[in-house]
Amino acid sequence: MMQTTPLACWMKEQTLEMLLITMLYEHTLTGKNAFFVGDLGKIVKKHSQWQNVVAQIKPFYTVKCSSAPAVLEILAALGTGFACSSKNEMALVQELGVSPENIIYISPCKQVSQIKYAAKVGVNIMTCDNEIELKKIARNHPNAKVLLHIATEDNIGGEEGNMKFGTTLKNCKHLLECAKELDVQIIGVKFHVSSACKESQVYVHALSDARCVFDMAGEIGFTMNMLDIGGGFTGTEFQLEEVNHVISPLLDIYFPEGSGVKIISEPGSYYVSSAFTLAVNIIAKKVVENDKFPSGVEKTGSDEPAFMYYMNDGVYGSFASKLSEDLNTIPEVHKKYKEDEPLFTSSLWGPSCDELFR
Ligand SMILES: *Cc1c(COP(=O)(O)O)cnc(C)c1O
Repeated sequence: MMQTTPLACWMKEQTLEMLLITMLYEHTLTGKNAFFVGDLGKIVKKHSQWQNVVAQIKPFYTVKCSSAPAVLEILAALGTGFACSSKNEMALVQELGVSPENIIYISPCKQVSQIKYAAKVGVNIMTCDNEIELKKIARNHPNAKVLLHIATEDNIGGEEGNMKFGTTLKNCKHLLECAKELDVQIIGVKFHVSSACKESQVYVHALSDARCVFDMAGEIGFTMNMLDIGGGFTGTEFQLEEVNHVISPLLDIYFPEGSGVKIISEPGSYYVSSAFTLAVNIIAKKVVENDKFPSGVEKTGSDEPAFMYYMNDGVYGSFASKLSEDLNTIPEVHKKYKEDEPLFTSSLWGPSCDELFR
C-alpha cells in the first residue's frame, strides 16, 4: 500500500528540493514508500489569483480533489465555500467550523441516508438533474434549495462516457413543474464544463441556457438567485482569464450585478494540482530489446537496450486522477547523473500488472 503524507509543514526558507531530500532520507529509513509533499503557499497563491481574475464568482472548493486536512484548513481560513459529494466530506468540512451555508452538496446521485444527514446538519443547497432524485430530495430534505444541473455541450452527445450528468432544457421545464408540485424550492442552475474541454465557447451556450431556465422558472413561480458555473479550471492563470474573457460580458447581460443572482463555482484541481509533488521510488527495472517495447511506447528501432522502470505507486494509488486527465506532467529524476552518461529509451510503470496505464 502506498502511504501519502500530505505535509502541512512548509518552512519559509526551505525549498521544495531541500524538503524532498530530507523526506527521501527519512523514507529510506522507513521503507521508501511513495509520498506527497504539499506546498500550502501555492494554494494561497491560487486563491489570490482567483480573486484577481474572477472576484465576482465565489469558489466552493470541490473536496474530492484532495481532502487533506491541511488543504481544507487553509481554504476554510481563506473563506472559500466547499462542494461535497458525500456525508464524510460534509462532516470533514464541518469539523473545521465551516458553516452549512458555505457547503453545497453536489453529488448527482444521492444516497437517502446522506440526504437526511444534510437535512439534519443544515446543508441545504444541492444539485439535481432528474425527477427521481428530485422526489428523493422532496421526501427527505424539507429545506432543500435545489440547483438544476443542466448539461453542457461538452457532455451532450460529446465523447462517449461524458453524457452522465445534467439535464436538457426541455426536461428542465418538466422538473420545474414537478418541483412546484412537490413543494421543493429551486433556487438556481448549475452546469459544469470539463477541464478536458478546451473550447471556452461552450460557456456561451451554457450561460444562455441557464438564462433560459431562469426565465422558465420565473414563469412557473420560482424566484431563482444562484448560478453555479461548475469546475474544470486547470489552474493556469491563462485559462482562468480566457474563461473570464468569455463569461464576464455574458454575466453582465444575463445576470448583471443588482439582479440578485449570486454566481458561484466548484473549482477542484485549480486549487490543488500545482501544490502537490509526488515522490515515488523505482522498485524494479527490466531490460528489454528496443523493438519489443509494449505498444504505446515510442520505439527508436535501434539495437540499444531499453528499460522499463516500475514505481511503487500507480493508477490504483496516487495516479488515479491521471486516468481522467491528460498525463502531461513530466517526471523529474531525483538522482543526479553525469552529463556524459549514456541515455536509453525508458518507460515508467505502476506496480500492478494492470495494462491500463504506464
Ligand atoms: C470533480 C468535480 C468538480 C471539480 O472538477 P475540477 O475539474 O477538478 O475543477 C466539480 N464539480 C463536480 C460535480 C465534480 O465531480
